[in-house]
Amino acid sequence: MHPWPASPRRRPSGKLPPIRCAVSALSALALAACSSAPQAPPTPRRTTNNWSPAPAYNSCLADLGNKEATFTPLPDQYFGAGCSNIQTVKLLSVRGDYSALGITNLGPVTCRLADAFAGWARYGVDRAARQILGSQLVRIETMGSYSCRNVAGSDHRSGHATASAIDVSGFVLADGRRVSVLGQWNAGTPQEREFLRVIHTSACRRFGMVLGPDYNAAHRNHFHVEAVDSHFCR
Ligand SMILES: [Zn+2]
Repeated sequence: MHPWPASPRRRPSGKLPPIRCAVSALSALALAACSSAPQAPPTPRRTTNNWSPAPAYNSCLADLGNKEATFTPLPDQYFGAGCSNIQTVKLLSVRGDYSALGITNLGPVTCRLADAFAGWARYGVDRAARQILGSQLVRIETMGSYSCRNVAGSDHRSGHATASAIDVSGFVLADGRRVSVLGQWNAGTPQEREFLRVIHTSACRRFGMVLGPDYNAAHRNHFHVEAVDSHFCR
């Protein structure tokens, strides 16, 4: 279900400081430059598959850094039974138009998902908050990301099992207001209801799958946003 194959190499475990990936990319270049000790040139080898997933992850980390997110790359982990954290990050904050935006209760997310989330938070949610509610966004509340579980009522794994999905539950504004999916989707002011529908629609442009209160009762209190290649929005 995960769109990206596993990294061929296990990255070292242990805590790494949050990074901006422009720095990381430069470090990688520096390391590459420093590793060219004099030795016989390698014999070219013909292989049947030259494709490597590493550049995709690295370029995703660079994209995330360019969006001024703060995050820590996490080591790959396989938990068995279709559950894994591959090419994930711990996302600490993302960039709004005027300030960093906090994110609560978020576990590991794939870099691809984090990158889509960073774009949505700034250009979808923060701008809609200012335009519709008259206050900038300061924080997005979630109900988590990684969870080794099936789609409710099914026998196949949820996007949460590969850290490819986030359940987004609420939005805190600079003026102190909190707009939650549960509280305001149906019962909010006209502006709050419009805000939630506008950001749901914008999520559908940035994530492969978006499920909200109109999908079923299980989503009455959150938007499920998932990085997948297929497209489903409800
Ligand atoms: Zn979900």
